[in-house]
Amino acid sequence: MPDALDTPDAPAALAVSRRIGPELVELRRRLHRIPELGLHLPDTQALVLESLDGLDVEVTLGESLSSVVAVLRGRAPVSGDRPVVLLRGDMDALPVTEEVDVDYVSQRPGLMHACGHDLHVAGLVGAARILHELRDELVGDVVLMFQPAEEGPGGAEPMIREGLLDAAGRRVDAAYAVHVYAADHPYGTWFGRPGTLMAAADEVMIRVHGLGGHGAAPERTRDPVPVACEIVLAFQTAVTRQFSVWDPVVLTVGRIAAGTVNNVIPDDAHIEASLRTFSPEHRAKAHEVVTRVAQGVAAAHGLTAEVSIGNGYPVTVNDVDEQAFAQGVVVDLFGAERWTDMVDPEAGSEDMSFVLEEVPGAYLNVSACVHPDHRDAEDNHSPRAAFDDAIVPDVAAALAEMALRRTRELARTD
Ligand SMILES: [Zn+2]
Repeated sequence: MPDALDTPDAPAALAVSRRIGPELVELRRRLHRIPELGLHLPDTQALVLESLDGLDVEVTLGESLSSVVAVLRGRAPVSGDRPVVLLRGDMDALPVTEEVDVDYVSQRPGLMHACGHDLHVAGLVGAARILHELRDELVGDVVLMFQPAEEGPGGAEPMIREGLLDAAGRRVDAAYAVHVYAADHPYGTWFGRPGTLMAAADEVMIRVHGLGGHGAAPERTRDPVPVACEIVLAFQTAVTRQFSVWDPVVLTVGRIAAGTVNNVIPDDAHIEASLRTFSPEHRAKAHEVVTRVAQGVAAAHGLTAEVSIGNGYPVTVNDVDEQAFAQGVVVDLFGAERWTDMVDPEAGSEDMSFVLEEVPGAYLNVSACVHPDHRDAEDNHSPRAAFDDAIVPDVAAALAEMALRRTRELARTD
């Protein structure tokens, strides 16, 4: 495979990333041993701060979560406004017991970096170090976003509330993030798409309220059990009959619960569903349809249904121009043979979507698959998900190069 580093005009970011690569891999392995969940990641935060120590950056710690925002200022002269680019790495792990046989295996039973966010942290630290070394060439400022709680309950939104997008003293112009994959593509393949990349995911909770009684005399009750079953089936009809197939809706009932024993009709039945949509329009419409169908089916049988739909992460949308730019950086650094267009969006969701709702940007994926055949590899979130951290220096170089080039372009067009 040709390597951009072998060419005389290889980007400096790539050269620095290769040199500091072993230290970034070591950092990833230290992070991998100490996975933490959710909004509060004190050990991870401490390791990030230790890794940024000695760099000339302005650090702000989160108040309601253990985020780290570091602003790195370029030293190249700029006439006019200083461009600002945001680079993001999420930091949290999952409640999974690791079954990967490596010497840096998780030291915390029941917790694992099963989505590879440890590689994201190491990659973003690497980008910081590259940009710091090259800051005489950096035209503008870079906001480094170390984010907790991507896996829930969501860290991007509180970070935005705490001032993330204005951390450099001026609004962020463009934002980039990279996610690693344990499967799906051969190692080293980058992939993405313009426009819709990932779904919005909302949690639907329904209580079907009836009137319990003796199983021998249903006519004296209002039995919620068959009504709950009808609601589940009616959802599937609603999805296929009320929404265009070209803007899909995925509605999965993952839990249905009612009653105690066979001969007692319960008062209530409970339905819990996951609703995934790929456009704000269908998301709003799906909320209406789910509520109307549940309440309407219940009413038809003389019962009531209480529906609550929690707003999860919005649709993740890559700006068309920013995606083309980020893809161009990857192709320049690693060669066109390492890029693959994603035909379809994914039904997963991501809270980088909150950042991309506010500023244009791009979210790319890269395979860190360790298996010789990626079709045999287990997916992210599996207790056997394994990531090849040789990819970390590439992630660092790509993020740093995006910041270097985009700030330069923005300064030129200002
Ligand atoms: Zn993830």
